[in-house]
Amino acid sequence: MEKNLEQINTAALKELDAADKTKKVKELSIKYLGRKGELTLFLRNISQLPPEERPKAGQRANQIKKELEVRFDNKIKQLKRGALAVKDEIDVSLPGRTQEPGTLHPITRITREICDIFISMGFDIVEGPEVETDYYNFEALNFQKDHPARDMQDTFYVSDNIVLRTHTSPTQPRVMEKQDPPVRIIAPGKVYRCDSDLTHTPMFHQVEGLLVDKNVSFGDLKGTLTTFIHRMFGSKTMLRFRPSYFPFTEPSAEVDISCVMCHGKGCRICSKTGWLEILGSGMVHPAVLENVNYDTSRYTGFAFGMGVDRIAMLKYGIDDIRKYFENDFRFLSQF
Ligand SMILES: [Zn+2]
Repeated sequence: MEKNLEQINTAALKELDAADKTKKVKELSIKYLGRKGELTLFLRNISQLPPEERPKAGQRANQIKKELEVRFDNKIKQLKRGALAVKDEIDVSLPGRTQEPGTLHPITRITREICDIFISMGFDIVEGPEVETDYYNFEALNFQKDHPARDMQDTFYVSDNIVLRTHTSPTQPRVMEKQDPPVRIIAPGKVYRCDSDLTHTPMFHQVEGLLVDKNVSFGDLKGTLTTFIHRMFGSKTMLRFRPSYFPFTEPSAEVDISCVMCHGKGCRICSKTGWLEILGSGMVHPAVLENVNYDTSRYTGFAFGMGVDRIAMLKYGIDDIRKYFENDFRFLSQF
């Protein structure tokens, strides 16, 4: 009888060892420990043993029963863990993945910031086409066909008369043709030039400004741009107007600001000069106003244009223009 008991134990352990599914373990549990299980029946029939064997056999049978219960339990736990790992390859104990919200591209942010400042000064936002006629990109802006200033702009020609606009300035004649003065517009958008290096890309972003009205002077231009620069870069930023040349403005000036990094002391960003070129500007050339049939004896105006990519680089301290195009979330999520 006692031998029989050890045989039951050995058989149960052997079968348990071979079981590879929780269902099988449950079946074994019933087979040995269930109401009609082999071990249960042994315990029930213990009274048939000779009296002197009963205590020892009973003790051993209960010990085996407890051990088997623990082993069956552990085996089921072990199989459940294994099934998760192999079958679904999901670790349910890992924390969930969060959805990262998108962020605005630095170019978009700066464009909006620039527009908001000018909107608060009474300017309207307009947009023009990126595929432009030679007339609006050049001729209407006082670039004649053989004008040497055309060489300043490395133009992408679609055909003899169609170009990818090289600046946002074509919006000036487009708006003035449709509207009588006063005109106060800001025109943001993409522009294209055949140029590519560390600080230039073939497509970049500009913001154009135009104001035409009675009695507009260079002083108005200076005041407007000074207000803008102080709001954009801080009220301690200094401005410097340098004489320059553009076919569509006369007189023309390039505007420098005191370096945003070293505040005029001289550093790598400003090439030790303490100044940064930030925009081009000037009084609208009378020829441009005549092209749209404005009365130049009554109206004058000023215009300016700036590169958004460069302003964003200076404002955020970005050192490589290629970062704008890499879509690296680690870069974009900083803004
Ligand atoms: Zn500097």
